[in-house]
Amino acid sequence: MDELSHWIDGARVGGTSGRFADVYNPATGEVQAKLPLATAKELDHAVARAAEAQRGWAATNPQRRARVMMAFGRLLNENMDRLAEVISREHGKTLPDARGDVQRGLEVVEVCMGAPHFLKGEFTDDGGPGIDLYSMRQPLGVVAGITPFNFPAMIPLWKMAPALASGNAMILKPSERTPGCAMMLAELIKEAGLPDGVLQVVNGDKEVVDAILDNDTVQAVGFVGSTPIAQYIYGRAATNGKRAQCFGGAKNHMIVMPDADMDKAADALVGAGYGAAGERCMAISVAVPVGRETADALTDKLTSRIEKLKVGPYTAGEDVDFGPLITSQARDRVRGLIDRGVEEGAELVVDGRDFRMQGYEDGFFIGPSLFDHVTPEMEIYREEIFGPVLTQVRAASYEEALKLVMDNEYGNGTAIYTADGDVARDFAHNVNVGMVGINFPIPVPLSYHTFGGWKKSAFGDLNQYGPDAFRFYTKTKTVTERWFSGIKDGGEFNFKAMD
Ligand code: NAD
Repeated sequence: MDELSHWIDGARVGGTSGRFADVYNPATGEVQAKLPLATAKELDHAVARAAEAQRGWAATNPQRRARVMMAFGRLLNENMDRLAEVISREHGKTLPDARGDVQRGLEVVEVCMGAPHFLKGEFTDDGGPGIDLYSMRQPLGVVAGITPFNFPAMIPLWKMAPALASGNAMILKPSERTPGCAMMLAELIKEAGLPDGVLQVVNGDKEVVDAILDNDTVQAVGFVGSTPIAQYIYGRAATNGKRAQCFGGAKNHMIVMPDADMDKAADALVGAGYGAAGERCMAISVAVPVGRETADALTDKLTSRIEKLKVGPYTAGEDVDFGPLITSQARDRVRGLIDRGVEEGAELVVDGRDFRMQGYEDGFFIGPSLFDHVTPEMEIYREEIFGPVLTQVRAASYEEALKLVMDNEYGNGTAIYTADGDVARDFAHNVNVGMVGINFPIPVPLSYHTFGGWKKSAFGDLNQYGPDAFRFYTKTKTVTERWFSGIKDGGEFNFKAMD
């Protein structure tokens, strides 16, 4: 069995704590590696070394730093299949999905090739007599990225690329369930020219996260994960005087209006609800058909499509629709929530609880489920299920559907399917959710926009990637200056002084 390591000062380094986490292959249920869990002392050492390395990196001009991003981008492209294989083996997602995970992270690296543009400051000429003002963006120092299991390439890249391109050093703490990809990213960015120590990968659990939050040298924390942990990290980081942006969980609704193209809406719901086994923060987990006829038609179309979904291990070929859940606990939790939905009176139209994957009986598989007649009081509506379960809440009108979305405590993504531009525009304008799709089920913004939810889906300020990321990972300094020699008060040029 493999024993994994940390990445410190440009090399793999074993752990000293004697504590390890099991890393599973979710398709087989086997433990495939042991991951060392760092102590606070190991973290403090990694931070101190990063602080030393950061000084030289910050003094490297932005264009040179951008060239490291260019080389890194090329290497990510060349190693796409290798990275995808590691992601699929640890996470269970299909290979096309794993390649998409790398691709969406790579797109953020590509935008960071334009770091000099994002980092250039502002200038006011003659703000007063002979007075100029300029502002510059300076790196924060050592920053930390704490990431979830479900996008082992994309989210670490969302954190690393803008932080490093801005001249910071980063402590990356990947999920202990899918750590392999982060180590490969560290190796590739070293090959691309990043100096040793500027990126440190420290593996661990709560102990190391708390050590990050309490370390005085760490200036900022970028977190992505579940809402309770996001809220905890935001609170502790802010109390300790750090800049923090913490992105949390989601419950994303898709409204289907009576005038929508019902086949397209059903296709979209199946892809967005069951893709990656529902383990996406932008998955659609609630369908909201408007009107009884819409709901009945949608249920029929969804049911026939769901029955054709192919569940399997990533090794079974590219036509597999989704794989297992991340752990046996995650699978049991999802099964328990489905049981609860039945007890609470929702109609279980498709039941995936008893699905068994032949030849992979110990894997963490569960089949797709569909609930109809769900109400907002039910646990399956209130909880983020994070599994292949789509729930349908019927609404009598657009206003009722909109109110449902607005009243939900999460606000990551949402979508509407309609042929009516007025309704779509009203929805986009009024809904209190950060990312909105119009006839588009998973509206993850492209990498030169920014990504972020509202309400309990995000704590702190500014979004991830795009221009916001450069703002988050830098602080602004503004200089007001004037020069006395050769200038008369009042701003006229003193020609005599030139003689
Ligand atoms: P998680 O909250 O369990 O873990 C995220 C990170 O926090 C991991 O690195 C983990 O080691 C650490 N952590 C876990 N428990 C901790 C504790 N008690 N104290 C300190 N640190 C702790 O999340 P997950 O299960 O890995 O990921 C799934 C969640 O992430 C879902 O809720 C999903 O919606 C969310 N997510 C959100 C976004 C977004 O951008 N909003 C993107 C992807 C995933």
